[in-house]
Amino acid sequence: MSAAQHPNRSPAFRLLTIACSGIGGLVLGIWGLRFGFGDGLAGMPASTIGAIVAGLCALAAASGSISFFAGVDESLDYVMRETHFDKLTGALARSAMVGRIAHEASRTIQTGEPVYLIDVDIDRFKQINDAIGYTVGDELVKLFAERLKILMPKGVTIGRIGAGEFAILCPDEVLAGSIDSLVGNLIDKLMQPYQLSSHLQSVSVSVGLAAMPKDGTDPLLVMRRSNLALQHARASGVGNWAVFHTNMGRVADFRQWVESELHAAFARGDFDLHYQPQLDLLSGRVVGYEALIRWHHPERGMIAPMKFIPIAEETGMILPIGEWVLRKACGDAAKLPNDCFVAVNISPTQFMTKDFIALVRSIIADTGIAPGRLELEITETAIMQDRHRAVRILQELAEMGISVAVDDFGTGYSNLSYLVDFPFSKLKIDKSFIDRIATDASTGAVVSTIVGLSRALGVSTIAEGVETEKQLTLLKAAGCEVVQGFLFGRPSPLIKINQGWPTSLRELHGTRIDRLH
Ligand code: C2E
Ligand code: CA
Ligand code: CA
Repeated sequence: MSAAQHPNRSPAFRLLTIACSGIGGLVLGIWGLRFGFGDGLAGMPASTIGAIVAGLCALAAASGSISFFAGVDESLDYVMRETHFDKLTGALARSAMVGRIAHEASRTIQTGEPVYLIDVDIDRFKQINDAIGYTVGDELVKLFAERLKILMPKGVTIGRIGAGEFAILCPDEVLAGSIDSLVGNLIDKLMQPYQLSSHLQSVSVSVGLAAMPKDGTDPLLVMRRSNLALQHARASGVGNWAVFHTNMGRVADFRQWVESELHAAFARGDFDLHYQPQLDLLSGRVVGYEALIRWHHPERGMIAPMKFIPIAEETGMILPIGEWVLRKACGDAAKLPNDCFVAVNISPTQFMTKDFIALVRSIIADTGIAPGRLELEITETAIMQDRHRAVRILQELAEMGISVAVDDFGTGYSNLSYLVDFPFSKLKIDKSFIDRIATDASTGAVVSTIVGLSRALGVSTIAEGVETEKQLTLLKAAGCEVVQGFLFGRPSPLIKINQGWPTSLRELHGTRIDRLH
């Protein structure tokens, strides 16, 4: 049923109403003729006056009823528009979408034909919105929804169910190909940049999928399940999608627990930093330490950063936690060897906040760390969220004398052209490349290319996750300058470093290092 139709007012019903009004008017006219103007008026015979009055009454009644019903329909339209549709995007509003899912559910129960519910969400939308401002944020959502509509086949229903979140109800029969190819293409296209009035904005999206009747037919349950799949996809990296699986319920329980526990953990002081050495291959010296957060829960024990950092990012808890990490690491620098820097991971959410630079300045002033001893590890994703802002922030950091390493390099955006615009000092080659370097010849070529690229850009390279001698030999052959990994030292508490941790590759490896020079 479209917004303009009403179940009780078919065209026949309206005609009947108008005819009744007309007859009513006629009867009224006859009544006037008999009782009011029986003697005639202004020379006209009573019968003529009666006919005129009856005609006028009929006309008035008919037009009155037309305007009444048209008016009602207009208000109906208005109410439908206001309550059923999202004003910004024209997509169905959340409550209307629930109704629509219920409708499709009853159909799929009868036919058995699958209907998919696809949950599409812009990652970190709240932070993007805070950073670019709500007006420009609205522009982004509008363009996103327009693109979504274009990408979807006819016969699907799109609803806006959150600020940057859309649900798509897609019956199997409207698909031209497979649902996999539809979703894959959707993610690809939705992650291409959006031209906003103020800048070009890149976003990443996560997608979750549930199918009716397989995953249930209760609309709220199916929505929850497609969202669980989405959370799962988000946790596994940028631009991912996942299909609902019953195991996901357990993951969701853990997620909820982490979310509710983070505040208390922060207040209790559960967090600590461990440090992992980074070694310069040419000099064989430890040149820096990466600070890695550790969460020791009083009952659950150690919780890995990958299990709570993404949740802290989504809930905003990463801001106080990230500030604490930066402050602690800068303070700890005084206890590390003087000629070493401390490398701190900066979450994209933190990097995008308006006062990030002000925060860095104040922490430097408070802790007294020489800016040259601070390195920030920032991922490609963070930089790509808003390139213009990223360039400004990176420039300010460079002016302050703080170096920046592009973390997890090679896993994010394939477009390398952006590198030219950004002032940074190091590319950190992602562990996934190092894992394959010894077994896959093409990975070695990729690593050599990255090293060549970094030389052309005048920056250095560091390889993370080095675990074997063979990997080390190949990295050295590729021209990589700095290495980090379990082969040289696991992340350890500061106290261990102060208890005489090795400071050079020679100490770490004894004489074996000589073979490398
Ligand atoms: P990352 O920045 O890529 O950090 C490197 C991760 O690889 C660390 O895991 C480190 O312990 C691990 N690693 C280092 N060498 C090796 C190796 O040779 N083999 C293997 N298998 N692993 C190695 P960790 O500490 O669990 O941290 C995971 C991720 O959590 C980090 O990845 C980073 O993205 C995030 N993270 C950790 N601490 C912080 C923090 O203070 N702030 C923010 N925003 N993120 C953090
Ligand atoms: Ca890192
Ligand atoms: Ca990494």
